Amino acid sequence: MSDRFLEGQGALVTGSTSGIGLGIAKAFALAGAKVMLNGFGKPEEIAAARAEIGAIMGGGDAPYSAADMSKPASIRDMIADAEKTLGSLDILVNNAGIQFVSPVQDFPDEKWDAIIAINMSSNFHAIKAALPAMLARKRGRIINVASAHGLVASPFKSAYVAAKHGVVGLTKTVAIEIAESPVTCNAICPGFVRTPLAEAQVKPLAEKFGISEEEALKEKLLVHQPNKRWVEVEDVAEMALYLCRPQAGSVNGSALSIDGGWVAN
Ligand code: NAD
Repeated sequence: MSDRFLEGQGALVTGSTSGIGLGIAKAFALAGAKVMLNGFGKPEEIAAARAEIGAIMGGGDAPYSAADMSKPASIRDMIADAEKTLGSLDILVNNAGIQFVSPVQDFPDEKWDAIIAINMSSNFHAIKAALPAMLARKRGRIINVASAHGLVASPFKSAYVAAKHGVVGLTKTVAIEIAESPVTCNAICPGFVRTPLAEAQVKPLAEKFGISEEEALKEKLLVHQPNKRWVEVEDVAEMALYLCRPQAGSVNGSALSIDGGWVAN
């Protein structure tokens, strides 16, 4: 099996200026895909991501969309831009996401709205815009980066858990609507992944409970993750790659866990 099995395919990964999205973009580029990036960040971080992925693709900056995933019209424009720039949009990864933690009775309305829009509704708008061309070409992969929180809950994350459960429900519905086509739609449900965003939660927990950072990681952050260690970005990217392989053509409507045993617990 060629390592560059995505040669000739176009991929868009939302929220790919850092973390899991950047890891998936890198893996796709290494597999030969033409990748478009999206996401926020400092100009120098975005430039670095575009240069890194562009270098893998043979030089120059990787294509990039600054579209805001909370804005349906921007999402539609991004998909049209991706179709044009990449030649064809064969792989859509809905990955952009944010988090906010608060007891439900204090949860700010605007945070709820933002999380539902970015973490869930953006998937709907992107799929709706990208799917017709995939179905017409009889080729396509839709991958929604959900979470273990798409399958189980944790306290104080009402909007995030609601949005991620919604993403899993959307994934299943789209999958059965397109089941007779060669296009598939699946969700990846990671536990805690070693990204700057997740790692930044360790120190405050250590300070809050007066314990070491190692204890804070194992006993507090990874309290529900039985293996007590981070999921690596590269491993999530490998799962996304697998879903793009021809051999994954019958994997459809799945919520694939990569969580160290969290939802089995
Ligand atoms: P991250 O903060 O490193 O990356 C998030 C990306 O989304 C960034 O590129 C950011 O710029 C982008 N983004 C945020 N708001 C946006 C908007 N309005 N429009 C466009 N882009 C926007 O986080 P991550 O940990 O890599 O998370 C990526 C995805 O994986 C998220 O959906 C998250 O919920 C999910 N996830 C993460 C973990 C984890 O432990 N890190 C676990 C399970 C699921």
